[in-house]
Amino acid sequence: MRFETLAVHAGHAPDPVTGAVAPAIYPSTTFERAPDGTYPHGYLYTRHGNPNRRALENALAALEGGAAAAAFSSGSAATLAVFQALRPGDHVVAPVDAYHGTAALLRDALWGIDVTFADLAAPGGLEAALRPTTRLVWLETPSNPLLRITDIRRAVDAAHAVGARVACDNTWATPLLQRPLDLGADLVVHSTTKYLNGHGDVLGGVVIARSPDDELFAAVRRIQSSGGAVPSPFDCWLVLRGLRTLPYRMRAHCENAAVVARFLASHPAVERVHYPGLETHPGHEIAARQMAGFGGMLSIQVQGGRERALEVTARVRLFTRATSLGGVESLIEHRASIEGPGTTTPENLLRLSIGLEHPDDLVADLEQALGAG
Ligand code: PLP
Repeated sequence: MRFETLAVHAGHAPDPVTGAVAPAIYPSTTFERAPDGTYPHGYLYTRHGNPNRRALENALAALEGGAAAAAFSSGSAATLAVFQALRPGDHVVAPVDAYHGTAALLRDALWGIDVTFADLAAPGGLEAALRPTTRLVWLETPSNPLLRITDIRRAVDAAHAVGARVACDNTWATPLLQRPLDLGADLVVHSTTKYLNGHGDVLGGVVIARSPDDELFAAVRRIQSSGGAVPSPFDCWLVLRGLRTLPYRMRAHCENAAVVARFLASHPAVERVHYPGLETHPGHEIAARQMAGFGGMLSIQVQGGRERALEVTARVRLFTRATSLGGVESLIEHRASIEGPGTTTPENLLRLSIGLEHPDDLVADLEQALGAG
């Protein structure tokens, strides 16, 4: 089935008991055993499994082209589960410009794991960081907030050559635009908080495995079940509902972002636009090859430094000053002040999540906020 059809039907069929077309929500934390002590419906306790979570996991695995999925209560919980599945002494290579929360987990939340942060978007950057003990290569492309592009196929080949596994954070691209498992990655991670849910009202995450007997994924599943960082049945229901419209939302996000990026690229108050859809973007060629669209995220560097960038955020009327991304409403944020001390993000950088408003209204808002330049 094609992506749009899967998005509507995966993980869901009309209820055989009631005929309800929209799925029911099962808040029950526990499930009845049969007289012989078995679990006839396959559920025991909601931390281990729940009908809403299973429906969501099946849908996410199907959309990403994977064999199995484990849903978590946030993208960061999903990310942490992958790292916790490693063993002491394992070496991990992660991008220098990984999502700052992911970098913080690798730096502060793990014991006995050796981490190298490398420039994975640069040719040879990964190869130079690999060691015989490298067990995992973490990819994130496009990166946050500079939208740098890593060649997934090339990174997979280099990692597999030394026996390392590859996990790709596909949050910014979504499975509609980028297919890391088809390009050889072993695991895909998402913050479902973003485009997959798409409405800015649920925190969630997922780990998806390419192979049904991936041992790293088996450990992730054990951590999910025993650690319990699982999404509530209602949150699973909401994300599943969001998935139904994912391809149509994503196409509109991409179209709007392209219009806004072109406008910003020609504005005298804008020093630089980071959007992989622009031919001037250093990762444009790779993005055009490995993505089916360039996404709804972009960053700009404003002429005049931090103060001027903050002035722009103060003047917007339609964009909302807030972090996060992937919802229907457009957001703008001064990224360095969100990332805090130690950030390498330029002080004049604003990150924009382009929503589903009419692009002309978004352009008009940015035009008045940027002023004459
Ligand atoms: N990965 C990426 C690329 C993100 O942008 C984020 C959040 O912004 C996360 C992971 C973490 O997700 P969550 O906020 O759902 O924990």
